[in-house]
Amino acid sequence: MHPSPPPRRSSKRPPASLASLTSLTSLASLREEVVACRACPRLVAWREAAEASRPAGFPPAPYWARPLPGLGDPSARLVLVGLAPAQHGGNRTGRMFTGDRSGDFLFAALHRAGYANQPESVSSDDGLTLSGAYVTAAVRCAPPANRPTPSERDSCAHFLVEELALLSQARAFIALGQFAYESLLRSRALGVAAPMPRPKFAHGLEIDLPGGRTLVCSYHPSQRNVFTGLLTAAMFDAVLSRAASLAAN
Ligand code: SF4
Repeated sequence: MHPSPPPRRSSKRPPASLASLTSLTSLASLREEVVACRACPRLVAWREAAEASRPAGFPPAPYWARPLPGLGDPSARLVLVGLAPAQHGGNRTGRMFTGDRSGDFLFAALHRAGYANQPESVSSDDGLTLSGAYVTAAVRCAPPANRPTPSERDSCAHFLVEELALLSQARAFIALGQFAYESLLRSRALGVAAPMPRPKFAHGLEIDLPGGRTLVCSYHPSQRNVFTGLLTAAMFDAVLSRAASLAAN
């Protein structure tokens, strides 16, 4: 049986600071840049062709078929970084981790931890909001076989760098999988050079960052990892709980 969920965080927000309003405005500008990007021809073709292979039973709404910005609270103290949108998930619905099994797993956990107002994430207008957390990815377009090439990863890295720089109140980061972990270190999106030698990726690995911030690693909540039991809800809750306590300091 799953343990009882922790007390939900208060929905009362402190008044928005000038810094968070500035961040909100800048994140909106960045969002416009992200969704207009066509820098990677292979990924542009893949994301735009996805609708033609819509799985049976999916809603008939047109696919988003563009890059995805992050979502969440501009004043977030916890930031989760994934790999890239799924072909028939975020690429279909227009919101990161929305409309696929990974999102079901992730947002249910964020809801148990008090960061999300609801456990479901099925469409971009389903009412989901995050408080204290922000979700993004290393690459913004759905890649074939969930594998961006190194040049696609590097082309997209500047969006992650800019986005994390705007999330100035973040104290803890969760890398969802090895690709996100390596992208964060390679891109220097956390404002530091990759530690040398780079610690081997592991579920639960923690890396101290300057300024009292911390990077925590988790297996990616992919359908395969969850189905095979490599990542369980209890394992992810433990990482989330640890990162939440680091983020609160
Ligand atoms: S993956 Fe990133 S850099 Fe490449 S087209 Fe998409 S948004 Fe642009």
